[in-house]
Amino acid sequence: MRILHVASEIFPLVKTGGLADVVAALPPALAKRGLDVRALLPGLPGVLDGIVGLRPVTRVGPVFGAASVTLCQGRLPDSGLPAYVIDAPFLFRREGNPYTGPDGNDWSDNHRRFGLLGWTAAHLASGELDPEWTPGVVHAHDWHTGLAPAYIMQNPGLKTPTVFTIHNLAFRGIFPMECHYDLDLPMHRANPRGMEFHGNISFMKAGLVYSSKITTVSPTYAREIRTPEFGCGLDGVMRDRAGDLSGILNGVDYAVWNPANTRTAKAYSVDDLAGKKVCKRALQLEFGLSTQARGPLFAVVSRLTSQKGMDLLLAVLPELLREDAQLVVLGTGDGDLEAGFRYAASVNPDKVAVCIGYDESMSHRFMAGADVLLVPSRFEPCGLTQLYALRYGTLPLVCRVGGLADTVVDVNDENLAADKATGFVFGEAARHALGARIREACGFYRDGGDAWTKVQQRAMRQDFSWNDSAANYERLYRELQARNAAGKED
Ligand code: ADP
Repeated sequence: MRILHVASEIFPLVKTGGLADVVAALPPALAKRGLDVRALLPGLPGVLDGIVGLRPVTRVGPVFGAASVTLCQGRLPDSGLPAYVIDAPFLFRREGNPYTGPDGNDWSDNHRRFGLLGWTAAHLASGELDPEWTPGVVHAHDWHTGLAPAYIMQNPGLKTPTVFTIHNLAFRGIFPMECHYDLDLPMHRANPRGMEFHGNISFMKAGLVYSSKITTVSPTYAREIRTPEFGCGLDGVMRDRAGDLSGILNGVDYAVWNPANTRTAKAYSVDDLAGKKVCKRALQLEFGLSTQARGPLFAVVSRLTSQKGMDLLLAVLPELLREDAQLVVLGTGDGDLEAGFRYAASVNPDKVAVCIGYDESMSHRFMAGADVLLVPSRFEPCGLTQLYALRYGTLPLVCRVGGLADTVVDVNDENLAADKATGFVFGEAARHALGARIREACGFYRDGGDAWTKVQQRAMRQDFSWNDSAANYERLYRELQARNAAGKED
C-alpha cells in the first residue's frame, strides 16, 4: 500500500512544533508495518540542506507565481524513507520561520506557497509528476496541506482517497477571498459548502470538507472540536462530518526522547533514578538557581501563548514561589508573555529562570532536570511535551483537555490506590484551579517520599510509542482503499 504524507515541516529539518515530530515519526512507523510510505515537503532551506541525495524528478512549468518549480526526490536523513521536495526558489527559499517573515507577520503569499504544496500532492496522485510511484492514499497534515483534497476532488478522473489530520484547529489558514483567484480552483469551491469562511477562504476548511476521512490527534480533541467552545467556528463542519472523524493519539519516538541517551548531564532509567538528581542540579546551576529550594523544580517547554495557558501561569507564579518551588521556562511566543516571564526571572533570580528562544537540546535538559512539567493549556489537540515528560519521570501537571486528558492520570487517592496515577490534572483552565493544583503538587513533593518515586516510575513505564497509532492509521487506509476498490467495481 502506497501512502503519501504531505506536510510543511519535519524534524530535524524544519520544526516549529509538534507537527514536525509527528511527521518525522509516523511514516517510519508505518513503513515498519510494511507500507510503502513517502513524504512530500516544500523546499524550505532546512529541507533542501537536510534531504540526502536530492535529484530532480520533473520540471513543472511556472505555477503559483513561481517561474521555476522542480519536483525533486531524495531520502529523509534519519529514517532513509523517500521524500519528494518541491524546489520553488521564489516561494520557499526563505530563511527563518516557514510561515512568517522576519517582521513576525505571515508571508503575504502563503496561499500560493501552500496552494502549491496541495497542488503538487494532487498531481503526484494523478501520476503526472512521477509515473513510477503513484500513491494509493494521500495523507495531508494541517491547514498547509488542506488544498490537497480539493485539487484531488477537482480532477474528475482521480479517485485517490485522502486522510486529513488536524494537528491544531486554531490555525485555520484564512486568506482574503481574492486569493482564491490565484489557486486555480473553480469559484464554486469558495462557496459556504466549500472553503468559504465568513467571507474569506480557509485552507483548513477545504481539508475538512473535501477529504475522505478526517483524523485528529487525540480521541478527546475529536469530541471537543464538535462543540462551539473548541470548534474555532468550524464545529458545524465537524458535526456534519462526524461520521468520518476520529481521534488517533500521537506517539513518541523513544529513540529521540529517552533519559538513557547522552543529551543530558547524566543518563538514568526507571530502575535507577540517581541520574535524574544530577540532571536537576546541573539545570539549576546552568541557570544560576539555588540548589537548596525545598519545593519542586517546575519547567515549561512551550510556545508562550494563551492557548498554552501561559498567562494563567504568570498569574499564579507568586503562589508557586511561596511554596519555595522554582520555575524554568524555555519558549518563545507573545511579546507580553515573554516580557512577563523575563521580569519574573529578573526579580527572583534564584527561583525563576527564563530562556526565550527555541533550543532542541535544552528542551531535553529541561525534561530530565525538572520535577514537574507544566502544561496548563486551554485546549490541546494532543500535546507531546507531557508524553516526553512522562518518559523522563518528570510529572506532568496539565489541564483536563484534549490529549492531556487522554494521557495523564491524576494523582488522587483513588488513582494512587489503584497504582494508576502519573501526573497532576486540574479541571478548569482558570487561575484558581491551576494555583490549587500547583500547591497540591508541592505538598505531594514535600511529603511524598516513596510515593513520588512510585508515580515517577509508573510515568516512565507508560508506553506511548507509535505502534498502536500506526496500526490505527493503517486500518483507516485499508478501509479507504477497500471502499475505493468497491466504488471502481460499481
Ligand atoms: P505545539 O505543537 O502545539 O507547539 P506540542 O506539545 O504538540 O505543542 O509540541 C511542541 C514541540 O515543540 C515539542 O517537541 C516541544 O519539545 C517543542 N518545543 C516547544 N517549544 C520549544 C522551545 N522553545 N525549544 C525547543 N523545543 C520546543
